[in-house]
Amino acid sequence: MSDKDKQSLAASAQSPEAESADAALRQIVDGFLRFHHDVFPQQEELFKKLATAQAPKAMFITCADSRIVPELITQSSPGDLFVTRNVGNVVPPYGQMNGGVSTAIEYAVLALGVQHIIICGHSDCGAMRAVLNPDSLEKMPTVKAWLRHAEVAKTMVASRMANGHLFIHGWVYNIETSEIKAYDADQGRFLPLDGSHPIPVATPKARF
Ligand code: ZN
Repeated sequence: MSDKDKQSLAASAQSPEAESADAALRQIVDGFLRFHHDVFPQQEELFKKLATAQAPKAMFITCADSRIVPELITQSSPGDLFVTRNVGNVVPPYGQMNGGVSTAIEYAVLALGVQHIIICGHSDCGAMRAVLNPDSLEKMPTVKAWLRHAEVAKTMVASRMANGHLFIHGWVYNIETSEIKAYDADQGRFLPLDGSHPIPVATPKARF
């Protein structure tokens, strides 16, 4: 390394950017230490149970956005949610690309026996701005696309859906208000998830 390189390295190590990067990392490590020393011991029984097996209640597909914390907004514990995240909570068509999401769906449904797949978008999403004011599906190409993706999952696990063992849910979470709207296939619109209706399902109920 030349003297010039050493000088520029030293300068960058002391720059405000480098300092704030250090502080950010320190905060994360401090958080982990608090978890390890304070939180973990209080839930040791749960973590012991989870050490060798999982039986999540649902699969939760959401955006990578830092403001969405699935466990926080659903008040779930470790082991409750099988979470898959990417920018814009996109579910690529099954078979076309055997990427992380398809693999995760397959594993969740077929290996873990998960019965609910929740696809959760959010307000102020760079990829999903169209869902801010969901008036109708026709005005929401993005939501329509989600539901098409849900269709893909449906094809893949059609038998489980047909016999009522798999349910797909399309949710939109509002960061500012914490409200969730859920797509109801029977009514063809989004309903508030406020406990006043039967829980909406994005795929029509199994008919026999
Ligand atoms: Zn997003």
